[in-house]
Amino acid sequence: MWINQPTCIKCKEQYANPLIRCPKCDGLITIPAINGSSPSTINLTSMWSLSSFLPKFNRPISLAEGNTPLLQMSKDPDLADLNIKLEFRNPTGTFRDRACSLILSDAYQNNVSTIVGASTGSFSISLSAYAAKAGIKPINVIPQNLELAKIEQMKLYGSKVIEQGETLHEAISVSEKIAKEEKAYFASPERNLLTIEGQKTISLEIILQKDYVDSIIVPRGSGSLVYSIYRGLEDAIESNWIEDFPRIYAVSLEKTKTAYLAESLEMKQPFIVSEVEDILKKTKGKEIQVKAGTMIEEALNIAKTEGLFIEPASASVLAASRLLIEEEKISPMSSISILTGSGFNALNIFASQLRGKKKVVWGLSESSTTKFEILNLIASKKANYGYSIWVSLGKGKFGHFQSIYQHLNELEKKGLIKVQKTERVGKRKTFELTKKGFETLDKMKDLIDYI
Ligand SMILES: [Zn+2]
Repeated sequence: MWINQPTCIKCKEQYANPLIRCPKCDGLITIPAINGSSPSTINLTSMWSLSSFLPKFNRPISLAEGNTPLLQMSKDPDLADLNIKLEFRNPTGTFRDRACSLILSDAYQNNVSTIVGASTGSFSISLSAYAAKAGIKPINVIPQNLELAKIEQMKLYGSKVIEQGETLHEAISVSEKIAKEEKAYFASPERNLLTIEGQKTISLEIILQKDYVDSIIVPRGSGSLVYSIYRGLEDAIESNWIEDFPRIYAVSLEKTKTAYLAESLEMKQPFIVSEVEDILKKTKGKEIQVKAGTMIEEALNIAKTEGLFIEPASASVLAASRLLIEEEKISPMSSISILTGSGFNALNIFASQLRGKKKVVWGLSESSTTKFEILNLIASKKANYGYSIWVSLGKGKFGHFQSIYQHLNELEKKGLIKVQKTERVGKRKTFELTKKGFETLDKMKDLIDYI
C-alpha cells in the first residue's frame, strides 16, 4: 500500500501500520519524501488526482474531497490580495475530510466492521460521514460539553457518540481502550499517520494553484496540520515542483478564559511540540499568538465583507495574517491563509455573539433559554427571588425587570418551581425547585452545551 515505507526518524525502524509515534523509541514516524507525477500530467479534480503521492488502496473511499478553491480577498483594505484556501468547502466542511478519506480507505481494506475515533468535533463529523460511505460503523468519543450542532451531525451520519472526559487527551485514552475491546480500527487524528498523508495534499494543491508562494499561515492546533503542510512541501521539493520551502506560520491562542471559542485550536499541549518547532525553524516561519476574542470578530468580518462563513478557529489565521501584514513580515499576494473549517459547525458561538447573550440554545426560543437560566440560578442557590434573578441574569440583557416575574409565574404554573416562603417585609417571594423542576433542568442540561 505504501509508496515509501513509514520510518521512525530517530531509530529508522520501518512500519507497515499507519502509526505516528515509534513504539520502540517514541520518535516521530514519517514517510520519506515521495517523487510523484509532474504538474503537467495532473488534472486536479479531487485529492485523488494526486494519487501518485498517496498510499494505494483497493477501493478509495471518496466523497470528492480536496481540490478546494483558492480565492483572493478584496474588500478588507488591510487584508486585500491575501490568498485564502477554502478548506471548509470540503464535503463535511473541514480539511479533515482529506484525512478521513484515506483512513476509511485503509479501514475498508482491513475488513473492519467498526471504527473508533476521538476529537473535539470536526474530525469526528468527517469520520462519521466517510464511515457511512464505507459501510463501517463509527463510534466517536468526544470531551464533554461539545457543541450540540457538532454532536447532532455525527449522529446524523449514524455514529454512536460517547461523551467522556474534560479534555481531548482523556477522550483519546477512552477511545483507544474501546478500539481494543471492540477489535475496531483506531482513528484518532493525533495517532494515525494517514491523517498527515491526507492533509499534506493541501500543500500540493497550493503549489499547483499558485505560481509563487512565500508564506503559508495555518492554525497550530495539535500540530498535525503544520506537520502535514510540511510533508506536502517535502514531496513538492522531491518532485521538483518547487526549490525551497515557503515559510510556515503556526497560529495559536493567547491563553485566556475565552480560549474555549476555538476547541480545535485550544490544546493544552500540542501532540508534536518539538517537531512543530523544528518545522517552523526550518522554514524560517514562527508561531503567532492571537487573542481568542479577535477570532469571532474576524469570522463575522469575513462573512460581511467577503461572503464566507468560517468557524472561529479558522478565523484565527486571518487575525494572524493581519498582524503579519501590518509588521510587513508577509506580502499578501504571495501568502496563503488556510481556512480550515465551516461556520456551520460553530452555530451556537455565532448565535450567542449575535444575540448579545451569554448562552443561547440553538433551536430553543430566547424565552426558553431564559427559563433554563432561571431554573439553573434557583437550583444552584445563586438567586431565588425576582430582583436577585434579574440582577444575576445581567439586568437589561434578559429583558425588563417585570418579564422575570412573568417567567417565574409560568414556571410555577408548570409545577417546576414553588414558593419557598413569602417574607413579611415587602412580601418578597423566594422560590425553590420542585422535583419535576430538577428533572426538567437535568433534561435541559443534556440538550445544552455550555458556552
Ligand atoms: Zn524509533
